[in-house]
Amino acid sequence: MHVVFLGPPGSGKGTQAKLLAERLQVPDIATGEMLRAAVLEGTPLGGKAKAVMESGDLVPDDLMIALIRERLTAPDAADGFVLDGFPRTVDQAVALERILNGNEKSVDVVVNLAVPEATLIDRLAGRAGLEHRADDGRHTVLERLKVYHEKTEPLIDFYRKRGLLKEVDGIGTVPEITERLGNALAEGRPARGVA
Ligand code: AMP
Repeated sequence: MHVVFLGPPGSGKGTQAKLLAERLQVPDIATGEMLRAAVLEGTPLGGKAKAVMESGDLVPDDLMIALIRERLTAPDAADGFVLDGFPRTVDQAVALERILNGNEKSVDVVVNLAVPEATLIDRLAGRAGLEHRADDGRHTVLERLKVYHEKTEPLIDFYRKRGLLKEVDGIGTVPEITERLGNALAEGRPARGVA
C-alpha cells in the first residue's frame, strides 16, 4: 500500500501518518523529520535546508526529489509506505509518479486531512510552546500556511483528477480521526473526479 498524506501544517497529518504506517506495517516517511535530522547532523543537505525551513518556505524541489528517490530505494520501502510531507509541489508529485512508475508501482491513495485555517493557526501557535520547533514562530507559521496554499493545495486537485483522493475531516480527537481515516480507506478506491 502506497499512501500519500496531504494536509496543511497543523492538520495533524504527522500523527495520523505514523499511526497508519504502524497499522499497515510500512515505513512512515516524513520529509520534515528527515530534514530536521539532517540539520542536526550538519550534513550538506541540512546546511542548505536550515534557513529555508526557518523562514517557512520550501526546500528546493531538486533536493527534495533526490532525497525521496534515495529513500524509496531502501528495502523497507519495497512493499509500501506512508508519505508525510512529500509531495508538496506539483513538480514533486510528477517526480514521485515517475519514480514509482519506473519500478512498476504507483500511489494507491491520497488522504487530505481538512482543517479550517483558524484552527490551524491556534494549533501551530500552541505547538510552538510544546515542541520548540524552530519553524513554529508566529511569522513563520503564517508564511508556512501561505506557502501551503500557493504550492501544496493544488495537489488536492491533482490527485482528485487521478481518482486517488480521500478527504477526511481533521477536526476531533486523535482516535476519532484515526477511525474516520480507517473508514475512508476501507471504502475502497474513490471514484475518479470530474476534471
Ligand atoms: P514538516 O515537518 O512536514 O512540516 O516540514 C517542515 C519544513 O521542512 C517545511 O516547512 C519545509 O521547509 C521543509 N519540507 C519538508 N518537506 C518538504 C518538501 N517535500 N518539499 C520542500 N520542503 C519540505
